Amino acid sequence: MTARLINGASLAKTMRRGFVDRVGKLRESGLTPGLAVILVGDDPASAVYVGRKMRACEEVGIRSFASYLPATISNAELLGRIVELNANPEVHGILVQLPLPEHIDMARVLETIAVEKDVDGFHLYNVGGLVTGNVVFSPCTPYGVVKLLEHENIPIQGQNVVVVGASNIVGKPMALMLMARDATVSICHAKTRDLAQYTILADILVVAAGVPNLIIPQMVKRGAVVIDVGINRLPDGRITGDVDFAGVSEKASAITPVPGGVGPMTVTMLLENTIKSAEHALALT
Ligand code: NAP
Repeated sequence: MTARLINGASLAKTMRRGFVDRVGKLRESGLTPGLAVILVGDDPASAVYVGRKMRACEEVGIRSFASYLPATISNAELLGRIVELNANPEVHGILVQLPLPEHIDMARVLETIAVEKDVDGFHLYNVGGLVTGNVVFSPCTPYGVVKLLEHENIPIQGQNVVVVGASNIVGKPMALMLMARDATVSICHAKTRDLAQYTILADILVVAAGVPNLIIPQMVKRGAVVIDVGINRLPDGRITGDVDFAGVSEKASAITPVPGGVGPMTVTMLLENTIKSAEHALALT
């Protein structure tokens, strides 16, 4: 079997074309969606991610507001900046690029973002909403995975799903979102004994560990759908996922490439959440 390629880049492009129309309608009504992006410090990878998000905003007509803040900023100053953005009617989404410097209280920062502008979905309310079904904004990466599965008409209900990785921003919300769609979900992490005994049972295997080649063909059930969230930079500069793409493609029925799979969907869902927030703001006026 050679797996069908799940093309995230292509779906992202189609979705973003639709966003141009939605943003156009908002602008005609006098409201331009705005996303505020806060970058603390000068981590080069974070700067690249922020640049990519701002460019994506521009392409669909969302206004972006960048705050480049020094790594030495105090907690109080950073919280003050967020409070200002919460009150700014031109801003419909606020994103604080992670990771933050060690001295910053990340939990406090995320909880200071107004829930109705929490387009990254990391506020405690939105995290809790994933458990109870009251979410305002879903976190972008797992939301992008769900969109990909839906677009590919891959059934989720009743499927055995294994999520490898249990972080707050990918693995855990991913598991909750798939549970909410009636999958039977197992979550594995670095301390899982014998990872393969779980992964081999998966009808849908989502991998978000940050370990190149963690998943090899022997660990995958024939015909499984494999979603590779991992983004790893190899010593030669190439980007690779967590899955042995060539080997696993021979066993899976469908698979996401890296790059070009989940990555473009993450930024797309950030745009979706920002537009949704702006549409909500317009409905309230
Ligand atoms: P993270 O916070 O480092 O979490 C990694 C998770 O994987 C942890 O739960 C860890 O287990 C688990 N893990 C690590 N090694 C493992 C192993 N050998 N076997 C099983 N589980 C293992 O990372 P993250 O932020 O969730 O990101 C994960 C990957 O996705 C990274 O490559 C990141 O670059 C990528 N990512 C991609 C996108 C995208 O848009 N495509 C977005 C976000 C992240 P413990 O909990 O036991 O430590």
